[in-house]
Amino acid sequence: MIFETVEKKISPFGFVLLLSENGEVVMKKDILEQLAKSEFRNHFKLKGAERAYALQKGRTVIKQHAEDFISKRLAPAVIPNDGKQTPMHHHPVFIAQHATATCCRQCLCKWHGIPQGRPLTESEQHDIVELIMRWIDNQMKI
Ligand SMILES: [Zn+2]
Repeated sequence: MIFETVEKKISPFGFVLLLSENGEVVMKKDILEQLAKSEFRNHFKLKGAERAYALQKGRTVIKQHAEDFISKRLAPAVIPNDGKQTPMHHHPVFIAQHATATCCRQCLCKWHGIPQGRPLTESEQHDIVELIMRWIDNQMKI
């Protein structure tokens, strides 16, 4: 059967749904795979000091840090230095944010379809943290 893909819609969070003409889901693609095709996103790897830190602190603590960073640095409606609020080093979550395009509201809008200019909901924050942790888990397996 041949489906013509007419629409590309991002939903649920973390997946790209390819829909057929009559709105049926034809394919569900992991956004992490899409992101890995971007040269910029894909060059972020969990190694060196950040990897050692993740091992030392453990998953539970790293996830708490992710929740904290997202609620303070990404969730507000207005972020004065948006686009520059996430360092390129110093914490495994920062690296993961760049790799998963959850580093700023501009990237969040472009890659995940979440509009800028309004606060993130609790559920969006939860989804973002889950995506970050999924990326970190994958990296820690390597
Ligand atoms: Zn960004």
